Amino acid sequence: MLGGGESGTGAAVLAKKKGFEVFLSDKGKIKDKYKRVLKKFEIDFEELKHSLRIINSADEIILSPGIPRYVPFIKDLIDKGVPVISEIEFAARFSSAKLICISGSNGKTTTTLLVYHILKAAGLDVAVAGNVGDSFAMRLAEKDHDFFVLEISSFQLDSMFAFKADFAILLNITPDHLDRYGNKFENYALSKFRITRNQTKNDVFIYNADDETIGKLLETQKVNATIIPFSLEDKAFDRGAFLKGNKIIINNYKNNFTMTLEQLALQGRHNTYNSMAAGVQAKLLEIRNETVKQSLSDFQNVSHRLEYVSSVHGITFINDSKATNVNSTWYALEHYNKPIVWIAGGVDKGNEYESIKELVKQKVKAIICLGLDNSKLHEEFGGCVDLIIDTESAMDAVVTAYQLAKKGEIVLLSPACASFDLFESFEDRGNQFKAAVNAL
Ligand code: ADP
Repeated sequence: MLGGGESGTGAAVLAKKKGFEVFLSDKGKIKDKYKRVLKKFEIDFEELKHSLRIINSADEIILSPGIPRYVPFIKDLIDKGVPVISEIEFAARFSSAKLICISGSNGKTTTTLLVYHILKAAGLDVAVAGNVGDSFAMRLAEKDHDFFVLEISSFQLDSMFAFKADFAILLNITPDHLDRYGNKFENYALSKFRITRNQTKNDVFIYNADDETIGKLLETQKVNATIIPFSLEDKAFDRGAFLKGNKIIINNYKNNFTMTLEQLALQGRHNTYNSMAAGVQAKLLEIRNETVKQSLSDFQNVSHRLEYVSSVHGITFINDSKATNVNSTWYALEHYNKPIVWIAGGVDKGNEYESIKELVKQKVKAIICLGLDNSKLHEEFGGCVDLIIDTESAMDAVVTAYQLAKKGEIVLLSPACASFDLFESFEDRGNQFKAAVNAL
């Protein structure tokens, strides 16, 4: 196991339970909660170093998604023919569950939890894992289920070879993490498309038919699965989801489902995609229309995704800290029809801001940078808004935004960047933002 976080620890526990000889190595410090688990299961581990002598003698390496495959000692192992796989790939060997796998640049967590919510409401034996909550391996080490809903990132897909999704949902492919893909969007897109790998005609690939990149990949890559599209256009698919006026229609041959946009718990165009994808999945499992409708209308939104925080003197504060790439911020800016004070910035992963400049010009009255190095934001948006201010803490950003915004306007934290320069994680950034708003 390389990496002692959620997936590495989970994989170590599962492997130990299955009788393997296990060693876990992390170059950084391992969190106490994971150390406790490793000790409990009597798993050998090291931290703050990689002992290559031990690592090089492994028959198989399970690689944390946080470590790129191009790191020299890992590349050497791969070149020598040692299998280097992800925890998901490893865990799948030990599960007989139907696997519902959700990937995409944005919307994974929301859609994963939506699917889980519907299946649970339908009374199925289902667990949720992957990039959200516990690792697949850890859940499986506890017990297998009839269904697993798995959120899968491109970094995990990069180390998956024999894995097969019974149901694969691909929400969208827009630029993200390009720093890990040689700054080539094409490489990243191909990585996402690996979700279809090994699928047969008995499996299903549910995809966003409005996404040009997915459309192009479908022309050039062979997909053996049964493909089912969803779209926000009036496409009248025989099998698939589409919009007709304000109604979502999901056709699955004879069994049709309709619901109005207003009935959806999750509002906004991006969330309509997520609801459609989850609805298609549910109908493929023949869950009753009433259950699907009820679940899509009573789902509780996940924190840090366009989360309403509060209204102070008529100024609305929105926490979209999970918007860590440009496309998710595009949907956030698009969603509001009032002037926005936009809090942005952090760690830039190779962002290309062209696609949101028009929206920024139309809607944003001021930009508050919340990051250590804000030079790119100044460069890119200097010509779009009159006011760009630097801040280095959530409190400072919120107080500054509060001074600039007027009654009826929106203060939106939607950074389009990762959080690691000033915060521990996107959750930490969102929580500090909310605490600062509540302290106003
Ligand atoms: P992920 O797990 O893929 O990061 P989340 O559900 O956590 O996705 O949402 C991340 C961000 O993307 C949030 O800002 C959210 O509002 C936005 N978002 C959610 N669904 C979509 C979508 N289908 N398309 C674009 N942006 C989305």
